[in-house]
Amino acid sequence: MTPLEARIRARIASEGPMPVAEFMGLCLGDPEHGYYMTRDPLGRAGDFVTAPEISQMFGELLGAWAAQVWGDQGRPDPFLLVELGPGRGTLMRDALRAVAGVPGFRAAARIVLVETSPVLRARQAEALEGSGARWAGSLAALPEVPLIAIANEFFDALPVRQFQRLGTAWRERLVVLEGGRLAFDWGRPRAEAVLEARFAAVPDGAVVELCPSGEAVAAALGARIAARGGAALIVDYGCWDGIGDSLQALAGGAHADPLARPGEADLTAHVRFRALAEAAGAGLRASGPVPQGVFLERLGITARARVLARGAAGAEVAAAHRRLTHPEEMGNLFQVLALTPRGAPVPPGFDP
Ligand code: SAH
Repeated sequence: MTPLEARIRARIASEGPMPVAEFMGLCLGDPEHGYYMTRDPLGRAGDFVTAPEISQMFGELLGAWAAQVWGDQGRPDPFLLVELGPGRGTLMRDALRAVAGVPGFRAAARIVLVETSPVLRARQAEALEGSGARWAGSLAALPEVPLIAIANEFFDALPVRQFQRLGTAWRERLVVLEGGRLAFDWGRPRAEAVLEARFAAVPDGAVVELCPSGEAVAAALGARIAARGGAALIVDYGCWDGIGDSLQALAGGAHADPLARPGEADLTAHVRFRALAEAAGAGLRASGPVPQGVFLERLGITARARVLARGAAGAEVAAAHRRLTHPEEMGNLFQVLALTPRGAPVPPGFDP
């Protein structure tokens, strides 16, 4: 049994069943034993590989995207260049290198990294030494200036609540103790006006997910962008509006039982882009989601790959290009959503 499981069992024994979101939040973010708080899970030797760790092309193209949006919106100075959940800092490092030649961009940009993990903050500090990057635990305390935010595989790490429809009532999925072990169960059915309104067409017995902390982040981004300008670019796996139980665990690169090793497996849930777009508010235009493969092609990944392939590692560049864009790899699984002020030009990579 992991140390976190012992604590969760004790808590359920004394306080009763625990909603899935609380369980997920502890597994990922518990200050002492949380998965992200105690390790760097990214990259080839870790539990999973993210797009910026596959190839420098990813961060470079997202950096170019940010520079284009900045230019389209009148080159605000200063502005915040924010990354949510920056992992090892690789994306931001590649982005900043790619835009070093854009006149005025770097001087106007205040780099802010929103990160909770001390382990990953240390990795980010190494990757971004000399960049002037600052860290923030949330968006709340940031100065009121325009903001361009990037989030790759951030929202999937935020806890979800799960509910099942039973007629006109809903019951929440809970983690309980069953014969002394962790198990899933359901709470008592209740009327839930918010769910009823949001998921009116969902059939009896179906499971839906809410991501309250993700919606809160989207609302904070939306309020800022509507008032001051800027954009948010959200890349993740998920869909516009899906239903179903999408909670999954990964440990050592393989699927695992989400209850099996609390704190030692990565837990994720699919991102519902519609919920984020709506939480961001009516002052914003949501563009997309478009598939990551299409988005990167539109930003010029093939031209960039050709240039890089002239160097030593041609085969590696071709493999990375395929992995990031091919429909059978990350190309369709990952989707890209942009939020910009109504009236601002449609950002690059999206349909007008
Ligand atoms: N964007 C990176 C890392 C993705 S992993 C990449 O693509 O490689 C998820 C990241 O989000 C990690 O950096 C993790 O520590 C961070 N994270 C998870 N929950 C968070 C929260 N509530 N607030 C801030 N950062 C969080």
